[in-house]
Amino acid sequence: MIADSGEQDVKMAVEAAERAFVKWSKVTVRERSHYLLKLAEGIEARFDEFANVESLDQGKPVWLTKEMDIPRAVQNFRFFAEFILKEDSESYELEKFRTSVRRRPVGVAGLISPWNLPLYLLTWKIAPALAYGNTVVCKPSELTSLTAGLLADVAAKALLPSGVLNFVFGRGAEAGEALVKHPRVPLISFTGGTATGKRIYRESAEHFKKISLELGGKNPNLIFADSDLKKAVAGTVRSSFLNQGEICLCGSRIYVEEKIYDQFLELFIEEVKKIKVGDPAKPDSFMGALVSREHLEKVESYIQVALKEGGKIVVGGDRPKMSPELAQGYYLNPTVITGLEENSRCIQEEIFGPVVTVSKFKDEKDAIEKANRVNYGLSATIWSEDKARAKNIAEQLNVGTVWINSWLLRDLRVPFGGMKHSGIGREGGYYSREFFTEPTSIIEVKL
Ligand code: NDP
Repeated sequence: MIADSGEQDVKMAVEAAERAFVKWSKVTVRERSHYLLKLAEGIEARFDEFANVESLDQGKPVWLTKEMDIPRAVQNFRFFAEFILKEDSESYELEKFRTSVRRRPVGVAGLISPWNLPLYLLTWKIAPALAYGNTVVCKPSELTSLTAGLLADVAAKALLPSGVLNFVFGRGAEAGEALVKHPRVPLISFTGGTATGKRIYRESAEHFKKISLELGGKNPNLIFADSDLKKAVAGTVRSSFLNQGEICLCGSRIYVEEKIYDQFLELFIEEVKKIKVGDPAKPDSFMGALVSREHLEKVESYIQVALKEGGKIVVGGDRPKMSPELAQGYYLNPTVITGLEENSRCIQEEIFGPVVTVSKFKDEKDAIEKANRVNYGLSATIWSEDKARAKNIAEQLNVGTVWINSWLLRDLRVPFGGMKHSGIGREGGYYSREFFTEPTSIIEVKL
């Protein structure tokens, strides 16, 4: 059973975090690093349990939670445990005076995460928040709170001081909103949908909160005629349908250079047809179930929109036939749509499921224009063997991350975030330090 917390619970959690902040903000960096490592070890010690529970709660395959979600949650803690130990101080000299920059934690951090990568994204916020001396009140999505509950248990067993890490389990409109509106939570890190992000941005303005918004994406996959086609097809299948397409970084708009369009499409369709949608517990199920009935219906409604807009469904578009024990699950076949105009809703709006569109581009200029012609600006992928050209194109894309001949590789030191409606701010390495601390410049006159 999961608690349905509301405003009063958030108030109590914030008070507990405020009390704990007095001491936690002053413990040494080494000590904080030690606790982060304990959290990492605590998850590792219960690895299978975390992996199974995440799959059960979210619908994704267990092999994926074992390969991606849970290892990444561990890595988030380990990374910041080490990163804070390498910190250097910042100071500048001029002829008559010197300035040193001192950083201090912001206070009680309000962290709100979505349902698609539940523990992975929650720990991506908790780890730097704690590492830089803040205390935390976090709210996972009510759809996928189970691994956050396990983490609370791990934190208690790691003897993390009481009040340092608080969880509220409840709905966004109640618990989430109460956290955002709380006047003594000076920082909000939010990952979720663009509409929610917009609302949180407005509400945070009331108290001039520090804010980081990692929102939706409608990411282009640009496939050039000089790409290694086999690799491009394999990479695009993965970036389209991993995690049932429920990753903000999935490449849901596929653009192929005219010359190889037919060839690419044929190979792509062939590979997509091989994808197995099935029991998340089975290792050969590449895709599991979508997160909820509501979300499944939303994704399906876009398939109907595509048909009305003149699109052609070349693969999928329907639910797979499942065995009786899985028949009530929210399964959808991987779906590929062609023939849509650039301004159609399925090309412009985030679907966040196993549905991709495939279109043509003429040349570099056309590819860049099409890639940039959406409100979102999270990421992009370029497939081309001409590395110099790919890099040049990457610099012209209005997105936070560009992969060349790969997808989803991540160095946790680099900035992560989006432009335009994909969000505000960056997190990762020193960018997380920037966000989770307040700097003060101290000026001393030289004698
Ligand atoms: P939502 O915006 O609906 O929810 C995200 C989180 O916000 C949930 O915990 C939710 O709670 C909470 N929430 C909802 N309403 C409010 C509110 N009024 N005030 C405060 N908190 C609120 O997004 P989804 O959960 O549907 O997640 C999918 C979205 O997340 C997609 O658009 C996707 O692109 C984006 N995303 C972005 C990523 C990025 O890094 N840029 C990464 C992953 C996902 P509850 O669910 O309990 O109602």
